[in-house]
Amino acid sequence: MPPQNPWPGVLWRSLWLTAAAALLGYLFGNVLLGLLLLALAALAWQYLHLIKLEQWLRLSRLYPPESSGVWGSVYDDLYRHAKRQRQRRYRLAQLLRSFRESVDAMPDAAVVLREDDDIEWWNRAANRLLGLRSPQDVGQRIDNLLRHPHFRAFLDGEKEQESLTIPSPLDDEILLEVRIIPYGNARRLLLARDITRLRRLEVMRRDFVANITHELRTPLTVVRGMAETLQDIAAHESEDLARPLALIDQQTRRMESLVEDLLTLSRLETGEQEPNLQPVDVAKLLESVLTEARALSDGRHQFELEAQEGLIIEGDKAELRSAISNLASNAVRYSPDGGRISIRWQRHGNEARLSVADTGIGIAPQHIPRLTERFYRVDRGRSARTGGTGLGLAIVKRILHRHGAHLEIESRQGEGSVFICRFPIPGSKERGEALRRPS
Ligand code: ADP
Repeated sequence: MPPQNPWPGVLWRSLWLTAAAALLGYLFGNVLLGLLLLALAALAWQYLHLIKLEQWLRLSRLYPPESSGVWGSVYDDLYRHAKRQRQRRYRLAQLLRSFRESVDAMPDAAVVLREDDDIEWWNRAANRLLGLRSPQDVGQRIDNLLRHPHFRAFLDGEKEQESLTIPSPLDDEILLEVRIIPYGNARRLLLARDITRLRRLEVMRRDFVANITHELRTPLTVVRGMAETLQDIAAHESEDLARPLALIDQQTRRMESLVEDLLTLSRLETGEQEPNLQPVDVAKLLESVLTEARALSDGRHQFELEAQEGLIIEGDKAELRSAISNLASNAVRYSPDGGRISIRWQRHGNEARLSVADTGIGIAPQHIPRLTERFYRVDRGRSARTGGTGLGLAIVKRILHRHGAHLEIESRQGEGSVFICRFPIPGSKERGEALRRPS
């Protein structure tokens, strides 16, 4: 029901009381005295209500004092307003509680960071995974509690990584994947996910591939040896066997290169062997890679080499050689006869760039982001025919990663491709950090 306007009643009551006071005063021979007494009584009445109102507000009582008229209406309005506020506060508290309960139910740690990376709030999983304790850790800087050497740089956004993997400060055996998400007014949310099991499975998968390929190596060598022997015998005795034996030889060679590539990749992925870093004269390395590529091309392509002399980088010579020769052999294998292959090694500002360009079949844009995935091939048939394993670019990517470098691919279908390896220059801050980054 909408509140009633009290003023007409007040007006009538005032007129009526004034008339009565004037009449009484007249009967007692002093109209002014009658009106004065009425004014005093009205003042006392207002004071009485002010006192009641002040007490009600001071003591935060639920129900307002009884009253009528303007004061009754003031009490009712204030009571309604306070009730609405209480209901709103209750709804907000409910919402906050259910939000906190849901965040607490999350298996991942969530920590709210203020502008200076001080910790404002965290959920239950953050106690378990990051060891945060209430109330002593409220207001602490997060990097005082997560003291991993790469964490500060990651927090400052110096590393262009989406996430960082670090051990839990409570237990080195627990691996955490940490992400930082900015939101609101200069706030950040730190999320940490326990990836121990995932990592273990990943290691098991790598070990499995490494073991199985290792086991395949010996039987394959035997089969190829036998096929060669049989080919020699068949060359003299049976012409019919020559073709199937040549096929056996060709396929076992293919399987051998697949096994070798898988072993190389798993060695690079497990990181069991650190890169053997030493100054590498890439210009010299390119000459021997070029000789190999020429042999593969067998005169079907033109080659061009432009290398900046004295541009030396620190790296693992064997790994760099393997990466560059993968790119050069791709350029040969995916360029039709008569194509031109250009290899360049040059300094560009803070980095050294190796580019392998060809005038080959090119690659459609939708394939480019996936080329470095294991076994990803645009055209399976062509890759197999030219002796590809589908692992070459995955190996290149891994090797570059171990050298703090990265691969860029530019291509136009039907026109050709350029594969660019960008190495930070030795001594630059970026490279120092990149080389120390765990792979
Ligand atoms: P593969 O052994 O099949 O060549 P890679 O990992 O070396 O495997 O390359 C993956 C795929 O990328 C190839 O199958 C091919 O489709 C494409 N590719 C690589 N290099 C080139 C290139 N220079 N020109 C065109 N396509 C290429």
